[in-house]
Amino acid sequence: MPSEFQLIQQFFQREQAENPAAGVVLGIGDDCALLQIPAGQQLAVSVDTLVAGVHFPKDADPELIAERALRTNLSDLAAMGADPLWFTLALTMPQADEDWLRGFSRGLFRCAREYGIALVGGDTTSGPLAITIQVMGACQPQHSLRRDGANVGDFVLVTHFVGDGAAALAAIQQEYSFADEHRAYLHDRFYRPVPRLQESQFIRELASSALDISDGLAADLQHICTASDVGAVIYVEDLPLSPAVQSLLEQSSANQQQIYQWALSGGDDYELCFTLAPEKMPELAMLIAQGKLSATVVGEITAGNAVSCELNGELFALPKRGYQHF
Ligand code: ADP
Ligand code: MG
Repeated sequence: MPSEFQLIQQFFQREQAENPAAGVVLGIGDDCALLQIPAGQQLAVSVDTLVAGVHFPKDADPELIAERALRTNLSDLAAMGADPLWFTLALTMPQADEDWLRGFSRGLFRCAREYGIALVGGDTTSGPLAITIQVMGACQPQHSLRRDGANVGDFVLVTHFVGDGAAALAAIQQEYSFADEHRAYLHDRFYRPVPRLQESQFIRELASSALDISDGLAADLQHICTASDVGAVIYVEDLPLSPAVQSLLEQSSANQQQIYQWALSGGDDYELCFTLAPEKMPELAMLIAQGKLSATVVGEITAGNAVSCELNGELFALPKRGYQHF
């Protein structure tokens, strides 16, 4: 049975030794890592925990668990307008299963290399399976994407599609039937959501506020409204839906209510929701036309303090709020 230190060495430290990363004065192996933040930039820090049986099925592929854990954390950096630098990993697992660790470490470092983020430390303990990742990134002080900057009259936009996170869960739990290509797409969206870091590089120069959609568009937009002391209206018919989700609409128009609910309050989309002053719209439209980012106007910032939804001009009642843990 390898010791804790041998496991850390084999599955986490070796990669770091082989691929030294920028700004890491001292990485894994000492009491702390020593990190050098790029001059003139601010450190953006965020942490998230994924618990087996709550955030992913216990028996899920460890490569995919690692990918999901790191990708959802990277999404927070994108939502803040920060570029990824480093992360730490606190791993709690029932036993030191080398096969599981091999898969986990493979998925973790594949994703870390893809997005240019380096593991610099962590903690390894025994207990029910849970993964905590803390990400660190660098922000230009004038370009951080906070929640408190929205103004009345701003447009509300989302990147790519909304509703895929909840549709993916429904597909995995076999509540709806999807064609194979759509099922594969949704499975990938669930385990390997794409942190919108590329989009963020453009959005952070233009947007007045932003966040990533983890709890559902309506609930997350409410966070912007509360922080900015404004209200918002969402035009439900304008919500961008993926071909996979649209295929359910083609199966039966009776699925419409469910689909809108997924898009508004399903969560786990990891798309960016951002607000934009009308005078910035031409520049954004140009970027969209050039194929540099995919974003859709889904609403407007209004006076007041609450998010409301309209479908074809009529008030659309939201049957269920976003995901809540307690
Ligand atoms: P300490 O007792 O000082 O907390 P640990 O024994 O927990 O030290 O960890 C030893 C070293 O290994 C530290 O540098 C720590 O950051 C690193 N480490 C522990 N677990 C992990 C892990 N899962 N991933 C990356 N680094 C880890
Ligand atoms: Mg420790």
